[in-house]
Amino acid sequence: EYPIKRQLITEQLIEPWIPHRTANSHKGTYGRVRCIAGSADYMGAGLLAATASLHIGAGLVYWDAPEELRRYFNGQTPELIFRGYASEGGTFSPDSADALVDAANDAKAVVVGCGVDDFTGSLHWMEKLVTGITCPLIIDASAFVMLKKQLDILLTRKGVTVVTPHPGEIAKVLKISVAQLESKRIYYAEQFAKRYHVTIILKGAHTIIATPEGNTYINTTGSHVLAKAGTGDVLAGFIGGLAAQGVSLEMAACVAVYIHGKAAEQLAETTYVSTMASDVSRTAGAILHKIAH
Ligand code: AMP
Ligand code: MG
Repeated sequence: EYPIKRQLITEQLIEPWIPHRTANSHKGTYGRVRCIAGSADYMGAGLLAATASLHIGAGLVYWDAPEELRRYFNGQTPELIFRGYASEGGTFSPDSADALVDAANDAKAVVVGCGVDDFTGSLHWMEKLVTGITCPLIIDASAFVMLKKQLDILLTRKGVTVVTPHPGEIAKVLKISVAQLESKRIYYAEQFAKRYHVTIILKGAHTIIATPEGNTYINTTGSHVLAKAGTGDVLAGFIGGLAAQGVSLEMAACVAVYIHGKAAEQLAETTYVSTMASDVSRTAGAILHKIAH
């Protein structure tokens, strides 16, 4: 047993963790992200997550998606590299796992799950990704829920992991009600992190981050504008983009959550209810600049 240390995420805390930019750099300096995301019904989620990794400063981002999405991609975010994989009915087929693991070999961070529709064989597919990918891995949305029958798969990871559920997703995985979860948010986050050796970001107003080493962080930024589709995908992309720049996953989680909330606060004063997840994504650079300079 070890003592748990709880602290607030403030500007002073995250400022030293923001990655530096140097004049004499190139895209390789800022890391390569692979974003395994999207399906025919949730194409935008993949696009948002991959684009957010670029917005937070990653050098090179691959959007790994079911091959059927290629014809709809049509150059939105032309900076992304699209890679198509074995698919069935607009979603990944289980056959895509080995190729995805191979592709992840040269990445500094991998994001999986945003807009991935569940499919037959998805648990085994996730098992291959979780055990085969060795770099920092961010598991979001359905990719996290897919693990609910076999959470111990998380213990087979060879690299560090962060999971990013919203209350509905973690409640489903733990087989408890959302009300029960919400009544003891910090407790459930800390238990989960310890039990499955992952950093967990339990989202919602006052997002909690708990690490397997017993560090707990409570975010102080955020706004109602985040209560809209796509904002979680942007957060996952931010974490991947920061991890690719060499920020440890624990620090990347804190920086991403803080910046995401701060961007939302600023947008609440300008575009207000018209704010879209993509606006939050685009605002990240301005917030980072304000803090780092
Ligand atoms: P998701 O449900 O996966 O799209 O994630 C939603 C994102 O928006 C998470 O980062 C939440 O923490 C954030 N969020 C949602 N509603 C609020 C709110 N009312 N206040 C602050 N943050 C919120
Ligand atoms: Mg989500």
